[in-house]
Amino acid sequence: MSLKLRNIPFSPPDMSGLEANEVRDAILSGWITTGPRTKELEKIISEYVGTEKSVCLNSATAAMEMVLHILGVGPGDEVIVPAYTYTASASVTQHVGAKLVLVDSQEDSVEMDYDLLAEAITERTKVIMPVDLGGIVADYDKVYAIVEQKKHLFKPSNDLQKKIGRIIISADCAHSFGASRHGKMAGSIADFSSFSFHAVKNFTTAEGGAMTWILPFGGEIVPLDADYLPTVPKKEGETWDEMLYRLSQLFSLHGQNKDALAKTKLGAWEYDVIGPWYKCNMTDIMAALGLVQFERYPEMLDRRKAMIEKMDNAFSGLNVALLKHYGADWAGSGHLYMVRLLGKTREETNHVIEQMAEKGIATNVHYKPLPMMTAYKSLGFDIKDFPNAHNLFVNEVTLPLNTCMSDEDVDYVIENFCEIVSNSNTLANSAIIGQGDHFQKVSAIIK
Ligand SMILES: *Cc1c(COP(=O)(O)O)cnc(C)c1O
Repeated sequence: MSLKLRNIPFSPPDMSGLEANEVRDAILSGWITTGPRTKELEKIISEYVGTEKSVCLNSATAAMEMVLHILGVGPGDEVIVPAYTYTASASVTQHVGAKLVLVDSQEDSVEMDYDLLAEAITERTKVIMPVDLGGIVADYDKVYAIVEQKKHLFKPSNDLQKKIGRIIISADCAHSFGASRHGKMAGSIADFSSFSFHAVKNFTTAEGGAMTWILPFGGEIVPLDADYLPTVPKKEGETWDEMLYRLSQLFSLHGQNKDALAKTKLGAWEYDVIGPWYKCNMTDIMAALGLVQFERYPEMLDRRKAMIEKMDNAFSGLNVALLKHYGADWAGSGHLYMVRLLGKTREETNHVIEQMAEKGIATNVHYKPLPMMTAYKSLGFDIKDFPNAHNLFVNEVTLPLNTCMSDEDVDYVIENFCEIVSNSNTLANSAIIGQGDHFQKVSAIIK
């Protein structure tokens, strides 16, 4: 290979001088923790995704756990999560003491097997947590149809659950900020959604995340005698949306009934602690990053799309399956360039990873399924029960795809990957893995 060695990191944060300036302004503004910039970012996010409100927190994990707290999910309840995801989707169920139920993937798709999902539902199921893997919005039409169909099994344990009236859908949108499906943005599709703004994600606040929700009764007043989280006092004339927002502030800030800003008012020192709760608020320094990233985000999404199209074309002759990121009435956020090396074992795929590393190209694997991890083995899960997730894992490699890459970097990844994979291939047979049925083979590009 004649190309000069380059160093291509997997997912460096795309930070410009604009972010640096805004962080500097935040630092010198005299207000560095949760304050005006965080509130501004919340407003921008709800406008962007199309919800009444959003809550900025310090991670997607905090947001997903917050959803369970707000719903009053805990011991005795079951939460269903795909086996093929990152630990955070599942670990939050353990934090609230609920029972984790893992579901296998579809054959050749990163989405849950929806027949198995339906079978996994019991009278104790409270929440299903689909994952928008790689930034592609999952098939929520199917998930909504299933929870409707299983409505008769649902046993609400408080008035919020009763108003929803069926199993609640809480989406792991860690990858899908900016993605859409059937004209709706991720964040306003599932009942509750959690975004991640961690440093490796498309849109970052270093650490950070946001929770959104969309409830048809969100504008209705909560009755003062509502049977809902008895330790939280109800407020006269407060809507469900307002109450959920207030609750998330309480849960994220020690259960303190005044935030730091309110306490800075002269003479207003006194506050109460309503519950012994959590600490997971976003700071204004983080929000400063988010405000600038938001300005740049449309361009960043376009750039991802252009890179993906270029890579898809370049790889069409290889014996690989590619994740399909865009369709007629949907668009992913282009978060992960996942590739499956058809017919290869994990060892052979790891060899490709090593050869890429020798060329200075960082790759990753999304994911080693949860039942293969010690923590989940200890909970009694066995990968033998998740054959499709295991099949997805054995030949998966994720190539670098980030908005710090130049055109030359993209070409360099393409040329090296083509060379390395063709040298280990005899068969040319590629496929694009599609949405809904993610790993659907598209004959047009099968060579
Ligand atoms: C990154 C990630 C998370 C966790 O996000 P944090 O903001 O780090 O808590 C959750 N789920 C998936 C699928 C992720 O990739």
